[in-house]
Amino acid sequence: MDYDSIAKAGSMLGSGAVIVIDDSRCMVKSLQRLSYFYMHESCGQCTPCREGTGWLSRVVDRIEQGHGRPADLDLLDSVAEDIQGRTICALGDAAAMPVRAMIKHFRHEFEYHVEHKTCMVPAYV
Ligand code: SF4
Repeated sequence: MDYDSIAKAGSMLGSGAVIVIDDSRCMVKSLQRLSYFYMHESCGQCTPCREGTGWLSRVVDRIEQGHGRPADLDLLDSVAEDIQGRTICALGDAAAMPVRAMIKHFRHEFEYHVEHKTCMVPAYV
């Protein structure tokens, strides 16, 4: 498992940290916790990270709380795109990349949350 091999497989190694998430876990809830962490950790020095991590956290939070809107998925991706590559340290990218990856790979879970205002994973209902 190295940077080139992971990139060739269509993914990314990022900081090299690995988080293993059981496939019964809710990806919306997982992203809610992750996004809150990055918002909390942002030092506020650069605008895309300072403002963007707050946006990401609040939008994911409202989806998780059952108040999400269909446009929120594209909004999340757009805010994350505006952060990625535009900050002076790696925290901005670290906050943005999981959002874009989760929306790409688990979009159906986010759509289910928005439509049904609850989780498709029974353990979280
Ligand atoms: S990207 Fe780094 S330097 Fe910029 S606000 Fe976020 S934590 Fe601070």
